[in-house]
Amino acid sequence: MNQPIFRAPRGTFDLVPPRGEAMLAVRDAMAAPLRASGYGYVETPSFEETRLFARGVGESTDIVTKEMYSFTTRGGDDVTLRPEGTAPVLRAVLENGLHRGALPVKLWYSGSYYRYERPQKGRYRHFSQVGAEILGTEDPASDAELIVLAVDAYRSLGLSGVRVLLNSLGSSESRPAYRAALQEYLRTLDLDEETRRRVELNPLRVLDDKRPEIQKALAQAPVITDYLSSGDREHHETVRSLLADAAVDFIDDPRLVRGLDYYTRTLFEFVHDGLGAQSAVGGGGRYDGLSELLGGPRLPGVGWALGADRTLLAMQAEGLPLPGRVGVDVFAVPLGDDAARRAFGLVTALRRAGVAADVATGGRGLKGSMKAADRSGARYAVVIGSRDLEQGVAQVKDLGSGEQEPVALDRLVEHLRVLLA
Ligand code: AMP
Repeated sequence: MNQPIFRAPRGTFDLVPPRGEAMLAVRDAMAAPLRASGYGYVETPSFEETRLFARGVGESTDIVTKEMYSFTTRGGDDVTLRPEGTAPVLRAVLENGLHRGALPVKLWYSGSYYRYERPQKGRYRHFSQVGAEILGTEDPASDAELIVLAVDAYRSLGLSGVRVLLNSLGSSESRPAYRAALQEYLRTLDLDEETRRRVELNPLRVLDDKRPEIQKALAQAPVITDYLSSGDREHHETVRSLLADAAVDFIDDPRLVRGLDYYTRTLFEFVHDGLGAQSAVGGGGRYDGLSELLGGPRLPGVGWALGADRTLLAMQAEGLPLPGRVGVDVFAVPLGDDAARRAFGLVTALRRAGVAADVATGGRGLKGSMKAADRSGARYAVVIGSRDLEQGVAQVKDLGSGEQEPVALDRLVEHLRVLLA
């Protein structure tokens, strides 16, 4: 008996055409505003020393306590498949001394991330993000710039339903007083044991508890905005007014927190209503203390990560067509062996001339080959029969109108280039 076929691991999926192209197009659209704004491309390994994330993301976060793919290598090293991009990129900046050059350093990246989560729609164990970071400046214009670039990326994909949630978590000037006030309030509530522990360890994380009864109890909780120092408030106000100048709508959300501990001051999330429970299509914030946590010098920074998988789901929820093109402009249909050889050379010449072209293979007949031409999405089929060959021509058929004309083989590349221009 045959064994059952292998399947992708739980919480993961394959991208096959045309979804594969759609994902590429989404990532390209996210990267385009960054590439046009002076960001350099950085690539780090998909796994890092486990301690980097424990330190960088936060020991008490869900990511570190429950969701990491961690293992010990044959050599005895403790490593983890990256659950997020900021800590690795900052590690790379420090290791490569980029912070000793001109500041700020602006970087972007794109890749796979891994979290051992309970799989559901929009929440996977392997997912794809495009990220951006600006390091070495506290300028609120950098925070605003990143938010604008993300909004422009979503817009360029045709999305109209992405909302920007904005908050400031304050710096070390403001946070301790707020933390204490929040803790004091939370201690008055009737909470389960685990949540009570969280109140003592990391009270801000309780704000992120999605359970309705907790959310209800949190309605009366003190909000960070009332505790911001004048410096933090000014920073936040500047971000807000720069966003308004750039015609970016945002929603002030003083209860917004995120699942990573390193944020200071600006915090933001991009949400979409078409996704059900997993509504965040991207998010980020400022992390002025992260470098020091990782053993580096003071190096303030701000960044975001946009989720490509969920962005694609959001596009589908809005009824947008799948982005990205599969297919070619020209499809050659040779009839017979001699024609096949000629078609191979012709298609090679077209491709080298920058025309997307494909050719029917395996000696299929006219009918099967024309079907393949239609499936290819081509605008023109180039049919080469044996009589055509004798006359040194091919039939160029417009697959839209059905019109057909003979064109000399040695003029074909130029002819098609003009038609497609
Ligand atoms: P985070 O670092 O958790 O804020 O993630 C940034 C973005 O990545 C989120 O807004 C999501 O769009 C996406 N993302 C995070 N975790 C997952 C996941 N498990 N599956 C799919 N997308 C995710």
